[in-house]
Amino acid sequence: MPINDDLKSRLSAEQWQVTQAKGTERAFTGRYVNHKADGVYSCVCCGNELFASDTKYDSGSGWPSFWIPMAGDRVNTHRDTSHGMVRTEVTCAKCEAHLGHVFEDGPNPTGLRYCINSASLDFKDPSNTKQET
Ligand code: FE
Repeated sequence: MPINDDLKSRLSAEQWQVTQAKGTERAFTGRYVNHKADGVYSCVCCGNELFASDTKYDSGSGWPSFWIPMAGDRVNTHRDTSHGMVRTEVTCAKCEAHLGHVFEDGPNPTGLRYCINSASLDFKDPSNTKQET
């Protein structure tokens, strides 16, 4: 079975729209906006570990926000001129799923704000193998 057929059956409509069609979930609607548990946020499509909870912060934007990805080449960035704006798109380095955008108005020490859709993420608590739903 082509991987896209498998993915489409596994993802929700919103997860598909965000990760495969570069959509954006509405602000303050994602399941991880106010999520504060310790653990790792992975790509919902391929499982690539992307962001650690200790780099998540409350940006007030309505989307999960991180000031740095996990060590290693976890994400790629691309110039995005869609919707009349110049932004930097963030994608999964392993499967190229769309994750969100990165802005230069984040906190120290990086000054970066990785503004990531909850729909692109899957949280894993290392002390508990059960996944959040
Ligand atoms: Fe991925």
